[in-house]
Amino acid sequence: MAVIRDVMPAFDLLQPESTAEAQKLLEQHGADAWVMAGGMDSFDWLKDRIKKPKVLVDLSGVEELKGVRATSDGVEIGAMTTLTEIAEHPAIRKDYGVLAQAVELVASPQIRNQGTLGGNVSQDVRCWYYRGGWPCYRAGGDICYADTPVGRNREHAIFGADRCVAVHPSDSVPALIALDAKFVVRTSKDEQVVDAEDYFVGPETDITRINMLRPGDVLTAIRIPNTWAGARFYFEKVRDRNVWDFPLMNVASAIKLSGGNIDRIRIAVNAVSPRPMRLKAVEDAVRGKPANADTGEMAGKLAVTGAVPLQFNAYKIPLMRNLVKRAIVGAAQPEMNGMSAVNQVGGNRAVGEAAWS
Ligand SMILES: Cc1cc2nc3c(=O)[nH]c(=O)nc-3n(C[C@H](O)[C@H](O)[C@H](O)COP(=O)(O)OP(=O)(O)OC[C@H]3O[C@@H](n4cnc5c(N)ncnc54)[C@H](O)[C@@H]3O)c2cc1C
Ligand code: SF4
Repeated sequence: MAVIRDVMPAFDLLQPESTAEAQKLLEQHGADAWVMAGGMDSFDWLKDRIKKPKVLVDLSGVEELKGVRATSDGVEIGAMTTLTEIAEHPAIRKDYGVLAQAVELVASPQIRNQGTLGGNVSQDVRCWYYRGGWPCYRAGGDICYADTPVGRNREHAIFGADRCVAVHPSDSVPALIALDAKFVVRTSKDEQVVDAEDYFVGPETDITRINMLRPGDVLTAIRIPNTWAGARFYFEKVRDRNVWDFPLMNVASAIKLSGGNIDRIRIAVNAVSPRPMRLKAVEDAVRGKPANADTGEMAGKLAVTGAVPLQFNAYKIPLMRNLVKRAIVGAAQPEMNGMSAVNQVGGNRAVGEAAWS
């Protein structure tokens, strides 16, 4: 293992106290500036000397970006609200439980105490070649090291690859898509409010970006409409180690039933594609059908249609098929409702096997 003996490049630490001040600083320093929230992703980049911004604009002193507020039609979560606060918030737990379940399974308690929702949805891909500073497509180069016959791609994409096969790693995002959340982005010109799934950018659009943010933009809040409050929810995450780990895959669903049949549904998966995936075709196919094993089976098969595995990640196809099935059947079962499941690959066989079969 390489030993790093140099010191981290110096940067100016700027600590604004309002969003307007933060934006002014970001505008002033343009591409030289880096927005820092809880620092859990940012510090990795800086300590590894891969990203070397000249200026860090630290949002931790911007109070207006923190907290969960009730709105006339739901809740608004400030981008700087910590994952722990969201997991423990009574209104989130009561009405939007799928989000509390998802963030509760992010990383470790220490990271959830420090990491923010804005940072969790905006974090970069975890592909080790890219994180290690290799000059791949996403880093502006002309090769993908993961997508070669010997590339390490067990955790990578089965959908949506376009030169880059890295996956989006967030646990909170599928829950936010299931809840039909809106992301509020302040640019130098205006405020934009976009559907959760439209916040993300795939490699076919811009291989060097993971979301719509441009230098100078700030994600200020995430709004959750009350449309899905109290719906039946399901969240499941599969990871290598239960103590803490990024998802190998996760799934979130919100379902409203009418007489045992699926009346309305939103379902999303992550860690299968460079962008989080809302499964619109599945939603359309299961509407009006009973939320039972047959419907789940059909949904699972449909969800994996068109999947293209890499050398070492074909296991993701049956995994996704079964997670989608369980997200439909599980959400409808009263004993599962409001529960989240977490499966560990390898150790916890009783649960782990269920994810594969
Ligand atoms: C060991 C480890 C394990 C982890 N495991 C998981 C896991 O299991 N599941 C999971 O989902 N995540 C996991 N994470 C990711 C972690 O949750 C994120 O790194 C964290 O949520 C980032 O949040 P942050 O507030 O620290 O943001 P930062 O690290 O400060 O920022 C992350 C990125 O978002 C940008 N950004 C942040 N906030 C804003 C904003 N308001 N406006 C504009 N840009 C912004 C920053 O510029 C940066 O590019 C893990 C991280 C570590 C280090
Ligand atoms: S998967 Fe993407 S991030 Fe990883 S090496 Fe290939 S281009 Fe780079």
